[in-house]
Amino acid sequence: MKAKANTTKGAPAPNQPPHLCDNCGWRGDTPDEIRNLWERVDTGGIMPSGQCPHCGALCYLDTPAQRLHAAAPALLQACRDALEIMQIAKAYFPQSIRNSARFRLLNIEANSIRPAIAQATGTN
Ligand SMILES: [Zn+2]
Repeated sequence: MKAKANTTKGAPAPNQPPHLCDNCGWRGDTPDEIRNLWERVDTGGIMPSGQCPHCGALCYLDTPAQRLHAAAPALLQACRDALEIMQIAKAYFPQSIRNSARFRLLNIEANSIRPAIAQATGTN
């Protein structure tokens, strides 16, 4: 079984060691060297920073960038869902609601998501 980074549990306190075990929660400065690295990581996945000296699972650097990387697929899906909900609302809500200032504002906000999705996915 390949491990996945589970680095979305919250930011480490300042001065905490940066390596976090994906399995047991061990945190430290010096994880072990990873045994059988290429059998344990997915292509394009987050590169582990070491192996947990406590349980042997993979460790990852617990940084804001790594947490964002780990959360990216869920964030992208949430953006797509928001756009889809807006499309449904535009199609089915009564005209009186669609003409309301609040609804128009929501539509503007939803449209601002499109460029972010295009940038994230490399599409236009
Ligand atoms: Zn561990």
